[in-house]
Amino acid sequence: ERTLGRGRGVIVLVPEIALTPQTVDRFQARFGDTVALLHSGLSDGERYDEWRRLRTGEARVAVGPRSAVFAPVADLGLVVVDEEHDSSYKHEGDPRYDARRVAEWRARTAGATLLLGSATPRPESWHQRRRLTLSHRVDDQRLPPVRVLDMRGSAHALHPETRRALTGARKSILMLNRRGWSNFLTCRSCGKAWECPQCDVALVLHRSQNAIACHHCGHRERVPQACDACGSLAVARHGAGTERLEAELAEALDVPVFRLDADTAAAKDAVARLLESFGAADAGVLVGTQMVAKGHDFPDVSLGVVVDADSTLHFPDFRAEERTFSLIAQLAGRAGRGAQGGRVLVQTASPDAPVIARAARHDSAGFLREELERRRALRYPPFADLVRVVCSSEDRAAARAAIAEVADAIRPLEAAADAELLGPAPLFRLRGRDRYQLVVKAGRRDAAVGAVGAAVDGVAQRRAHRQVAFSVDVDPQ
Ligand SMILES: [Zn+2]
Ligand SMILES: [Zn+2]
Repeated sequence: ERTLGRGRGVIVLVPEIALTPQTVDRFQARFGDTVALLHSGLSDGERYDEWRRLRTGEARVAVGPRSAVFAPVADLGLVVVDEEHDSSYKHEGDPRYDARRVAEWRARTAGATLLLGSATPRPESWHQRRRLTLSHRVDDQRLPPVRVLDMRGSAHALHPETRRALTGARKSILMLNRRGWSNFLTCRSCGKAWECPQCDVALVLHRSQNAIACHHCGHRERVPQACDACGSLAVARHGAGTERLEAELAEALDVPVFRLDADTAAAKDAVARLLESFGAADAGVLVGTQMVAKGHDFPDVSLGVVVDADSTLHFPDFRAEERTFSLIAQLAGRAGRGAQGGRVLVQTASPDAPVIARAARHDSAGFLREELERRRALRYPPFADLVRVVCSSEDRAAARAAIAEVADAIRPLEAAADAELLGPAPLFRLRGRDRYQLVVKAGRRDAAVGAVGAAVDGVAQRRAHRQVAFSVDVDPQ
């Protein structure tokens, strides 16, 4: 408000408009016609109108997802990135960009203030920025107590205590980061596993669609009634996804069950309608992927459940701890926002993992301190910058030869960029293409980006590699 009062413009980035209708409503209610809303649902004509209103100064606040960072706001005074930890700020398509870096650049060149907001800031933001801490939760409620439930040896997707808590709660949110009914199918007789013919991953059962589907390339098949390798009729289904959990909860509970994941969110306005129904319901359960943890405000939700905290924790990625902490904390932020309070249950087979213990105590500062120490020791961001190169080809040998040449071309430049080369290592086959990657950890960002770019350009130009696709990703997520 103060920035607008001085006559300067504002950009507000939000993770995904469809998932944050409440945030957008609040802005429009407060600032009315001076708000230009930019999102992917706009037609070209509507988008043009909003851009024109910004350019002429008729609108001075641009609100939108990552692409709104390019909005033509005149005399920019403030750039806000709401939920700055959200992975949707990184655009993985062409062109690759991280809206948070662009926001930083726009703020710097315009002499504007950059404000990053999050209940679970990224370690690099925490390390690099000045901090403002709110002394209390916006709704003035205390954060709900979190209990960690040991799932070792448990055959069922829900711990007995979770089931008891669900029966006692009027409104709850359950998060399970897996879509579909079962994660994978195998033959009980010969052990065959159903995999995508294009990617080295298991096909996921979607029962309502009578299909098994690849979540990476979209390949689909009818649900097999028999094993095509040995003819056995005994096909086993393993693991539980959101679709199955929804069905089991609907069976066990007397309240309506709502499911929010990429399958139910596909239709236009489906998310807004779903969230509205859950909000209006007297009692109910909202079950879904991490979409359920994204900043929704339902004051009467008293129970939050992280069904499988291990799904992010055991991911082979330096951000595994950060993501796990963030998901637990974000879900905890959804529960107990009303006067009746609430609680959170975290199901995990790693109850002693330090990150889970920190999250259960709402100890953000402790987590960030430990995580930054770990990253400093291992030289991960913010103590180094990462650049990733991927070579892919339908011909495995060609992809491997290309990445080896890229590695050879980068190695002599390691010293100048204060860099260290990791790999090359194979990635799983995707869309019929074998892939290899290498990662450069660099102390000098610009030198490393330049060196890697030059090395890749040199190798990619060679005729021998014409069947290979090269990609360079700075700050891979
Ligand atoms: Zn078989
Ligand atoms: Zn596939």
